[in-house]
Amino acid sequence: MNNFLIENYHTLLNEIQKVAEKSGRDLNSIKLVAVSKNFPSDNIKTLYEEGHKDFGENKAQELREKYEDLKNLDIVWHFIGRIQTNKIKYIVPIAEYIHSVWRMKEIEEIQKKAEEINKTQKVLLEINISGEQSKAGLIPSEVEAFLQDATSFKNIKIIGLMTMAPYTDNVEVIRNVFRSLRELRGNLNKKYPSIKELSMGMTNDYKIAIEEGATLLRIGTRIFGNRYLPE
Ligand SMILES: *Cc1c(COP(=O)(O)O)cnc(C)c1O
Repeated sequence: MNNFLIENYHTLLNEIQKVAEKSGRDLNSIKLVAVSKNFPSDNIKTLYEEGHKDFGENKAQELREKYEDLKNLDIVWHFIGRIQTNKIKYIVPIAEYIHSVWRMKEIEEIQKKAEEINKTQKVLLEINISGEQSKAGLIPSEVEAFLQDATSFKNIKIIGLMTMAPYTDNVEVIRNVFRSLRELRGNLNKKYPSIKELSMGMTNDYKIAIEEGATLLRIGTRIFGNRYLPE
């Protein structure tokens, strides 16, 4: 079991390196977030012992449990899931990065907790590039106005943008989503220089994401295997 995990991990790192080289990307500008949701703390520990520190979780409760299990390790936790406002008080003390923020009430709650514990919370704004109603995220035309308000909260630092591509085999559709996120960052970055990161690319589309400029890859299945529990 652990050998399988370690092998997957190193194979993935090699693939990331290959794609980065081929597309002229500096490998140091690409960080892998190992998405450990639904997998036990032991698996995180196994990868940690291989030198990996960045892990992603999408549920506040699971994040808290794993944090408790592993709190003697210097893991960098990323919260990547849908946010329930009443759980923000549990997420902020643990997560170095929150990738999936897009509602002003989330910003307000993050500010409240971050101020209370005297922390500057790093946040990425989730963007719904395709504008599908069912998807989370700000649509691109809303982002500027949102930032005008969101950047006034002193315990929050907005460091980048996050998106999820639609689930499709159509590479060009996926590429267009990632490219649009990069272009949006380019536009916003002039006014908001702290917006640098692009969190995009999962198991099925991370190679395209690297080619299109991803700086944070969120990859689970490719490392840990299939998840059997519902999302
Ligand atoms: C589960 C999840 C991932 C990882 O997906 P895989 O396809 O398993 O690599 C990435 N981002 C978010 C927001 C997720 O919920």
